[in-house]
Amino acid sequence: MARVSPTLLSLALLCALPSLAAADQPDPRERTCIDRIAGMLVRVGEDKLASRLKRDFSKGRVQFGKLDPGETAAAGKDFLDRLTRKPNVMTLNREKAFQQVADYRSASGVNPLLLGWAATIAHEYVHMDQVNPTETAKHETPAWLESADAMRRWLGVFHRDFERARGMKEPERSRLLAELETYVGELSLLCGAMAADVRKLIEHRNALGVRSPKVDPSKNYGFAQTKPHADNLLRNIRALRRTTAKPGTGQPPATPAKGRFVWRRQSAGYAMIYPDAVAKYKAENGFFSTGAEGIVQFGYRVGNEQAKFALTWNPVPDTLTPGQSIRMTVKVSDIGCTAENVGAGGGGCEVWIQRSPDGPWEGWFINQPGVETKGRQAPQSRDYVFAVPEAKPGMRLIVKTTVFDTLIGSEFVVVYGCE
Ligand SMILES: [Zn+2]
Repeated sequence: MARVSPTLLSLALLCALPSLAAADQPDPRERTCIDRIAGMLVRVGEDKLASRLKRDFSKGRVQFGKLDPGETAAAGKDFLDRLTRKPNVMTLNREKAFQQVADYRSASGVNPLLLGWAATIAHEYVHMDQVNPTETAKHETPAWLESADAMRRWLGVFHRDFERARGMKEPERSRLLAELETYVGELSLLCGAMAADVRKLIEHRNALGVRSPKVDPSKNYGFAQTKPHADNLLRNIRALRRTTAKPGTGQPPATPAKGRFVWRRQSAGYAMIYPDAVAKYKAENGFFSTGAEGIVQFGYRVGNEQAKFALTWNPVPDTLTPGQSIRMTVKVSDIGCTAENVGAGGGGCEVWIQRSPDGPWEGWFINQPGVETKGRQAPQSRDYVFAVPEAKPGMRLIVKTTVFDTLIGSEFVVVYGCE
């Protein structure tokens, strides 16, 4: 995380010159970045670190600069300290920070990338407190151990939030669960990435014949151990999200307004449910997913093997009459897995209803068992039978076919309006 780049050093030296000290006003996006990262630190219980970050930014000890694109931040340049007689300085990659923090927009308002920035700050502050940090195992190991510890602590925070969510009322509960799903998904990705980083640092130094790698190869950093706990929590969050709305029975309404109003298809489309995680996961795991009405194909790498599945179903009619019984047959098949049991693919069917514009979506037919198969195993199918609910003007209905059991969920959604 803290590689010394020549660009950084020259920049740091330039910044120390009095003529440049009174440079123009900092870009307001710098403060936005600091405020948002500090907010994330508070969110995961690191209040002290958050205050320290804000204080150090106002004192110029945390600054923004041009770093190599791969670098997020750098801290602790010992000879810079001797030259300026100032304490260590932390430099954040300006371009990357603006892109990932200040200018970042997401539909949900939750930015998962902030978690990685918070982890970087925790790591770099270890270097800030080292007297003469250089890139040796002696200095990097404590910083990486802190990164690993932070992952464990923050997973604990999310775990407690998840337990808290169980007792909450709507809509707060759904909001918290959605936020937790984003952050815990990101934490899992970070643990995987950092485990790989540590491995690469060790391999890289060994390959160059440098005697002491930057991190201690004998240490167990624990990223790989934390990841399955994060994945487990993620599964529980998703399962609770599915049961958050009142479980619908899919039974015909007590007084079906047959013949008065019908549900008419307004739109249909295929979407990823966790778009923020997709880009990262795609690159790392060869993930792909394409969908159209009646079929979604998806796959990912598992080690050296490839998992590849298709989910198919009979499209729902364009018009639905209240009380009508609808049968959806959802089938999942291996379409090119390279080994037996490699990965798992599956899906299911759900129906949700919105009784007034802007009102909450209620589950009409949810929590049904899913259908699943594994590499080189027989296709599996399942019939989902539900009754079409009563319709009144202003109401909306969605019928979705969901894909699950990959890290990234996706769904094909058909939206109906009442007329
Ligand atoms: Zn470091």
